[in-house]
Order: sequence, then C-alpha cells, then structure tokens
Amino acid sequence: MSESNFVDYIKIYARSGKGGRGSAHFRREKYIPFGGPDGGDGGKGGSVILKGNRNYWTLLHLKYERHILAGHGENGTGKLCHGKDGADKIIEVPIGTVVFDADTGEFITDIQHHGQEIILLKGGRGGKGNNFFKTATNQAPKYAQPGDPYEERRVILQLKLLADVGLVGFPNAGKSTLLSVVSAAKPKIANYPFTTLEPSLGIVNVRDSHSFVMADIPGIIEGASEGKGLGLRFLRHIERNSLLLFLVPADADDISKEYEILLNELAQYNPELLDKKRILAISKSDMLDEELQEALTEELSVDIPYIFISAITHKGIIALKDLLWKELNNQEFHDMESIVYRPMDIKMVDVDDDYDFSLPEEEQEEDDDLDYDEIDWENEQ
Ligand code: GDP
Ligand code: MG
Repeated sequence: MSESNFVDYIKIYARSGKGGRGSAHFRREKYIPFGGPDGGDGGKGGSVILKGNRNYWTLLHLKYERHILAGHGENGTGKLCHGKDGADKIIEVPIGTVVFDADTGEFITDIQHHGQEIILLKGGRGGKGNNFFKTATNQAPKYAQPGDPYEERRVILQLKLLADVGLVGFPNAGKSTLLSVVSAAKPKIANYPFTTLEPSLGIVNVRDSHSFVMADIPGIIEGASEGKGLGLRFLRHIERNSLLLFLVPADADDISKEYEILLNELAQYNPELLDKKRILAISKSDMLDEELQEALTEELSVDIPYIFISAITHKGIIALKDLLWKELNNQEFHDMESIVYRPMDIKMVDVDDDYDFSLPEEEQEEDDDLDYDEIDWENEQ
C-alpha cells in the first residue's frame, strides 16, 4: 500500500494559531511624564482551512505534510502597534474529501465544491492591549488581555470520488475499454501496484453539449464485500456515485444471474447502495448476431433499464450516453441523493500508524504574560 500513489486515506495533525497577547505598555517619552497606556492588540491566530480543489485527485500531496500548523498571532506592542496576524494554513483537498475526527471517528465535514472553504480549526482571537481598556475613570489600565488559545485536532481525511456514473462489473467485463471509448479526457489517478486495480475517471461528453464524470472502479470481485482482496477498499468510492452502470459481458453464462451476483456484492458491502439508480449494459455485444441478441433479450430478467453495447464497434454507445444523461437528470432521483455519514469506526481504519503524531517540539516561547495583572474580564467595567 505504501508504494501507491493513490492515497485515499490520510491522518493528519492540525493546529490553529493562538492569538497574540495585548500589550500593557505605557507611553514613555522625554518631556511627557504621564504618557498613558499605548499597548496595542495582539494579532489573530491563523486558522486551518480546508479548500476544495478540483485539480487534486488524491491526498498524496498531504502524505509528507502531516503536521499542519497555522501561524500564531504576534503580541501587541507599545505605540499602539497591533501584533501581526498568524498566517492561515490552507489544506487543499480533492472534491469529495470527507473529514473524520481521528480519535472519536466523529464525522466533521466534507468538501463538495471547487473553491469551497471550511474552517477546520479557528485561530485564537488576539488579546486587547491596555489602550483598549482606557476609560474616563481608569486612565491608566495596567492590564492587557491574553490571546485566545489555539485549537488542535487529529483528523482522518478520506477521499470519495464524486463520479456521476460508477462502473460495476467483474474483471474483464470491459469497464476500462468502455471508459476509454466514451470519455474525452482521462485523468489517470494512480499507478496502483496491481494494474487492474487502478481507479480512473473520465469525462463523458453527451452530444457536445453536456458532460458527466464516469468512474471505473475495479476490484469488485466475488467476496469483495467480505474484505477479500482490495475490492473493498475501492468499493468505498462508489458509495457516492450517483448512478451505477453494471457491465455484464454478452458471453456470460447467464447475464441475469451475473447481474444478481454483482448486486449482492454491493448489498453486502452497504445496503444503501441499492438505493442508487442502476442501468445494465451488456458489453461486448459485437459478439452477438441479431438472432442471438433477440434470444438473450427474451431470457433476460432484470428489473432495470438495459442496453446492448460494444466498446469495440461503438454499437449502442451513443444511446448509452443518452440514457445515462437522461437518468442523471431525473429530478426525483437527485432528491434522493442526500448522504448521511455515519461516524467512522476508527478501530477498523487501516491508516499506516507508524507515524509519530506527537506535537512537534516548538521553541519555548518566552512567557512574559507574568508582567500583567490578572483580571476578570467578565466583571470588569
Ligand atoms: P475490465 O477488466 O472490466 O476493465 O475489462 P477491459 O476493458 O480491460 O476488457 C477486458 C477484455 O475484453 C479486453 O481483452 C478487451 O479487449 C475486451 N473487450 C472490451 N470491450 C469489448 C467489446 O466491446 N467487444 C469485444 N469483443 N471485446 C471487448
Ligand atoms: Mg479494467
């Protein structure tokens, strides 16, 4: 697994920046004996922000940057100098990244759009300097406010590919070939060590006016839902596919039965998958003459739309694209597409935990908070 470039799971430690302290400085200048308070406010701590970026397809870029630290706000200083705000830290993630708390498994958030920003950890507020507390009755407050502390959290980022159409079929059903034929662009996601287990996405153009994303998610093999092989790992990625296109080759012993087996695999993995719209394509049907196709059609007992196609001769390909587009735009179906995330069972998570998640040693900051008088902010004034 560690050799793979397809990183769909990653555990990171994130910490926002703490707010800078306000300054309790007094103006001291020659010839101005009572200069008064001129302590500036502390800067705001940086936040840790997740941002959707459609140019990322995996979480690989985070693999070597697993401590995400936003900058601390700087302390305010005299002469009403405001401390500098700490820098935000933006974590760019692919669309379809789901975030869980690494310690509790709690679902935190998910990223659904390009450019979408979600604050994962908020930076601490900067403290007010003593100048802020100057009042008619207290012209010379000797106190200033400390900055708010930082927040920290260990999170698991998990990638769900957001494809509109997910291909479901046994190895050799013709999934990769179909994708290469229907898709204009074919971004390669991964060099998975097993070439047959290489999820890829394609953008399918429909009559030059519309497009949708199709995902070839290999590894659905018998027993995949019991965790055999790597299929299970990839099955996750079709959870969110809007529509499932089942591929059963024309030369299967029993097309209807093979479809049932595939369906059963999905159901065992996650019954919610059965709520998805399904279409059956009988692939490689260039191997059939008309007579044989008619005979197979009569035998066929499936309760979903089906179509005979051939990626090689392009038979039925345009009709297939039209059918998929029609189903994708079926309003009733989109209403169904509300995803509810269950908390993750973190004991089941197979992230490589050979990684030290302790907080990196930070330079011990000189703590001159002691210079300030402690005050009770709520009851002051
Ligand atoms: P996958 O494992 O489901 O991705 O299947 P592939 O796309 O790799 O195809 C498996 C085999 O079926 C390959 O040898 C393809 O050349 C062949 N194949 C795929 N599509 C067709 C088709 O439309 N007609 C015929 N005759 N063979 C096909
Ligand atoms: Mg393939």
